[in-house]
Amino acid sequence: MSTEPYPNEPAAALSEAEQVPLWLDDPGRPAPRPSFNGELSADLVVVGGGFTGLWTALRAKERDPDRDVLLLEGDRLAEHASGRNGGFCSASLTHGEANGRERWPEEYETLHRLGRRNLDEIAETVERYGIECDFTRGGALIVATHAHEIAGLKPDSPGFLDREAVRRLVDSPTYLAGRLEDDTALVNPARLAWELARVAEGLGVRIAERTPVVRMDDRGDAVELHTPQARVRARQVVLATNAFTSLLGMRKYSVVPVYDYVLATQPLTPAQLQSIGWEQPFGISDCGNQFHYYRRTPDNRILWGGYDAIYHYGRSIKPEHEHRPSTYHLLARHFYETFPQLSGIGFTHRWAGVIDTSTRFCAFYGLARKGRVAYTAGFTGLGVGASRFAADVMLDLLSGESTDLTRLRMVRQKGIPFPPEPLTWTGIQLTRWSMAREDRTGRRNLWLRTLDRLGLGFDS
Ligand SMILES: Cc1cc2nc3c(=O)[nH]c(=O)nc-3n(C[C@H](O)[C@H](O)[C@H](O)COP(=O)(O)OP(=O)(O)OC[C@H]3O[C@@H](n4cnc5c(N)ncnc54)[C@H](O)[C@@H]3O)c2cc1C
Repeated sequence: MSTEPYPNEPAAALSEAEQVPLWLDDPGRPAPRPSFNGELSADLVVVGGGFTGLWTALRAKERDPDRDVLLLEGDRLAEHASGRNGGFCSASLTHGEANGRERWPEEYETLHRLGRRNLDEIAETVERYGIECDFTRGGALIVATHAHEIAGLKPDSPGFLDREAVRRLVDSPTYLAGRLEDDTALVNPARLAWELARVAEGLGVRIAERTPVVRMDDRGDAVELHTPQARVRARQVVLATNAFTSLLGMRKYSVVPVYDYVLATQPLTPAQLQSIGWEQPFGISDCGNQFHYYRRTPDNRILWGGYDAIYHYGRSIKPEHEHRPSTYHLLARHFYETFPQLSGIGFTHRWAGVIDTSTRFCAFYGLARKGRVAYTAGFTGLGVGASRFAADVMLDLLSGESTDLTRLRMVRQKGIPFPPEPLTWTGIQLTRWSMAREDRTGRRNLWLRTLDRLGLGFDS
């Protein structure tokens, strides 16, 4: 092992990092449930066993205990975004206030209230069922690391932290200002998902893993789902398949899969923790277009992710994309720039996950197949909390009734799709280049201003 401090040698700092998501590297990970074989039927079939599918199955049973609910997961529960994320469970349903106010100014206050209620109800669910997932309502600290970002933190309003105040909370030489917000909880996401499955099964949901749905056919008053070994007849279906190929062909262009990369350090010693002064249980993110998000874990590691969101040509999703040394090195270098006090600490885990980026940066919802199939996707990197709200929206849509949720303009309005290749790839590269430039200079170029006018963009 090198005797140099790691900032000069990110490769050495990463040399012992395993390519595995920290949260899934857990001896408590439940064994996969068996797949289904033969012919089955159910009132409601949920496709996808991440947060969206699990919340849908659970909420369906809470709302109507007599409903027969089946969940089909093609891989393993929480194997993808839901088991790989930062665990920031935000109240925001709109990927932040600015995006929500810009798109739905007339109903933003309602969306804000519904988002806070959703977060409260997640906390109540955790409490009610004794869900063990280290759920902590510690808030989020947003930090400015460039002078031009300070204005966005609203220096004249309560809650603003100047340089000294923010560095008293967490000591990084890169911080220029901050704002502490109380609308976020931190959670161990994989455990939350596994526990949601346990609770759902307790309420009677049947769950199969390694059971991919490969086709969906209309059959009169039902929908027939095909898996390699089973045929499932469903009165209603919820598609909770995130960035993966939609079973509804036309939805193909609604999202693009974007890879987000993450590192986790060794557990910090008490002296290392003291050197950065990070005592309170909030998560942190910086406020550039290309932003980092980071948090402490219960065993005092720092999970450090974001910044270099990568789209692969042709909407490609492949395990190979998770190996990206240049991005891991970049993340490691940024970590040591942020916390030079931790120059001797190494990383134990590195991983990547797929984000379902939509042009509106937050989920869209809808019905297909004569109202029998509900779908959602497009959470764009902020779906840990919003997935539960999406579950209720889809169940309301399937009920056929007009409800407070189905009447929302955010729910009724469809997102603008991405174009076919090579336009998507070219557009995203140009947008990323422009955003990186804005992060450095504080200036929004003509391309970004044009996208703003069209209500389009790229985010993670
Ligand atoms: C690295 C990373 C960090 C993130 N950090 C945060 C964060 O801190 N806070 C936050 O709010 N959000 C974050 N997100 C986003 C968040 O994780 C997602 O929005 C959320 O987990 C989406 O849940 P989901 O159930 O919709 O998707 P997923 O968890 O991807 O689940 C979809 C499931 O559907 C299954 N599936 C797909 N097709 C089929 C099929 N045909 N048949 C059967 N099964 C199928 C897949 O196998 C998968 O398990 C992050 C995402 C990533 C990747």
